[in-house]
Amino acid sequence: MADDRAKSRKPSGLSKRILSIRARLIVLALFAISPLMLERVHGLEQARVERTEQARVEVMELAQRGAAAQHDIIESTRTLLEVVAHGYAMAPPDPRHCDTDLIDFKRSIPWIRTLSVAGPNGQIECSSDPLGVGLNVSDRPHFQQAAQSRKFALSDYLVSTVRGVPSIFAAFPAIRNDSLVGVVFASIDLQWIGDLAANAAKRSGASVLLIDNGGTVVAASGDEADLIGKNFAGQAFVHDMLAADSGTATAPDLHGVERIFAYVRVPWTKARLAIGLDENAVHSGIDREIGLAYLQLALFGLFVLLVAWFGGEQLIVRPIRSLVRMAARFGRGDLHARASQDSWLAEFEPLALALDDMARKLAAREEELCIANQHLEELASLDGLTGLANRRGFDRQLEREWQSANERREPIALMMIDIDYFKLYNDRYGHVAGDTCLRSVGETLSLVTLETAVLVARYGGEEFALLLPGLDLKRTTALAEEARKSIEDLLITHAESPYGHVTVSVGVESMVPEKGQPAAHLVEAADSALYDAKHRGRNRVIAGAPVLLSAAS
Ligand code: GH3
Ligand code: MG
Ligand code: MG
Repeated sequence: MADDRAKSRKPSGLSKRILSIRARLIVLALFAISPLMLERVHGLEQARVERTEQARVEVMELAQRGAAAQHDIIESTRTLLEVVAHGYAMAPPDPRHCDTDLIDFKRSIPWIRTLSVAGPNGQIECSSDPLGVGLNVSDRPHFQQAAQSRKFALSDYLVSTVRGVPSIFAAFPAIRNDSLVGVVFASIDLQWIGDLAANAAKRSGASVLLIDNGGTVVAASGDEADLIGKNFAGQAFVHDMLAADSGTATAPDLHGVERIFAYVRVPWTKARLAIGLDENAVHSGIDREIGLAYLQLALFGLFVLLVAWFGGEQLIVRPIRSLVRMAARFGRGDLHARASQDSWLAEFEPLALALDDMARKLAAREEELCIANQHLEELASLDGLTGLANRRGFDRQLEREWQSANERREPIALMMIDIDYFKLYNDRYGHVAGDTCLRSVGETLSLVTLETAVLVARYGGEEFALLLPGLDLKRTTALAEEARKSIEDLLITHAESPYGHVTVSVGVESMVPEKGQPAAHLVEAADSALYDAKHRGRNRVIAGAPVLLSAAS
């Protein structure tokens, strides 16, 4: 359970990478630049909204200008008709000349296509278009309306099937002495729509539609001309448009192209003039700008990421790796390396100094440990009772001396000395006295061989071993004899010994080590000699291996 928890706390390789310093730096950099980026994106989106708004205002101005043009045309037509009607009422023209009068009037206003006068019965008596004379227009709504209301009347829009140009009829009654003497009427070419369309077309993707009260398109600019005469009352956009006098909307047009529309009711009529700008065309500039800005932002973001990545590598990851390498060198024991020799950024300087400090302390600790170890080593090689080397110390020194004698091709001698009847001594005088005796024997041996032995060791129990490099058997035997005598001369009483005093037996050997010969060979030989000394009655020195002796004897 605890293991599981520990495991879950330990980050996996992937999450380690995700949480690496560089990854954090990148996240930090992204956080830092994100307000800037969001601000820029917001600004651009705002600009887009403003552009749409501006387009709405522009298109509404166009529509209002169109409607104002319509107003002016109809006003001026009304004035003309009123003048003609008044003249007609005052003095009906001579039918032979009336045409020329009307033609003159018509010329004065360019958008009037025909100017005619009908009698109260609806029969055209006079017209600027000679073909119209004699026609009866009594069934025309504008005629009827003008005759009945005795006021200026305007027809619905009509689309000339021949020319495709929308037109309307304006009618004005001629009243004399309160009775209707005729109706003057004019067909008006709605040339302004074409002008407006031409004007709007200067704006790419603009379209102009004139839609009558019933939802039928009565006029349309260039690309939309195919819509003329078709009814779109069912379309939501047309429906909404007819419900209000003016407004703006963004909706698909009658061809399905998304447009920003402005529409106004045309004065004197119930028709709506709608001008639409292609939304894509309106936004193309700003959209390109937005696209460019997003690209710039992406490049800027990428630049920031690269700076964070490489900057993080250069400024943080590399110094850390370098410090880790330094720590690893310390770990391998190279405590004399110094991190502070390199130049560090201010933040890493204390770490480098701390590492150096740690290395210095480790070096000092290591030195202390070395000394302590040496001390322990010495202690471990010493015999506590006599202060001489112990068996361990002897073995190590023997190995060294044996090696060097071998290298120098010189003899090395060994004395093995054992106290005689020591068990009995202990039994008789006690262990403490035994210990004292052991110390005395050790001291005496050291003194006697002070200049010749490199090592006096307590080999074990009451047995001593002396190493004498460079001494041949003869000199060693003599020295051994001297040592034996010195011990005997100590005159340590030993009532249980046939000699009456503490004595020692000595086995001696000296040899030049041969290649590959182990040091144990010398020990065995000296030991055999010692054994032989014991065998021959103790308190004596025997030199050389007994086997050789017996072979010689
Ligand atoms: P030998 O003449 O054949 O050497 O007879 P020995 O009695 O000396 O030899 P043995 O091996 O029978 O006895 C050795 C004795 O040395 C036995 C033990 O009590 C004594 N001894 C060994 N180490 C110590 C020690 O550190 N202190 C004391 N007091 N006695 C020790
Ligand atoms: Mg012994
Ligand atoms: Mg003994």
